[in-house]
Amino acid sequence: MAKKKSVIENVALQCEVCKNRNYTVRKNKKSNPERLELSKYCRFDRKHTRHKEIKK
Ligand SMILES: [Zn+2]
Repeated sequence: MAKKKSVIENVALQCEVCKNRNYTVRKNKKSNPERLELSKYCRFDRKHTRHKEIKK
């Protein structure tokens, strides 16, 4: 069993409008403990929408 402690976490960014997971990002849990919320381009809505972090 590998017990590696990492502060880097892979998270997905989900579009609030169409609920598609458009992006996966790596974030540092220590420097960025809160949920990510970013304005990103959604190719399904063809505009910038709010994307929220969800666990993969
Ligand atoms: Zn969307």
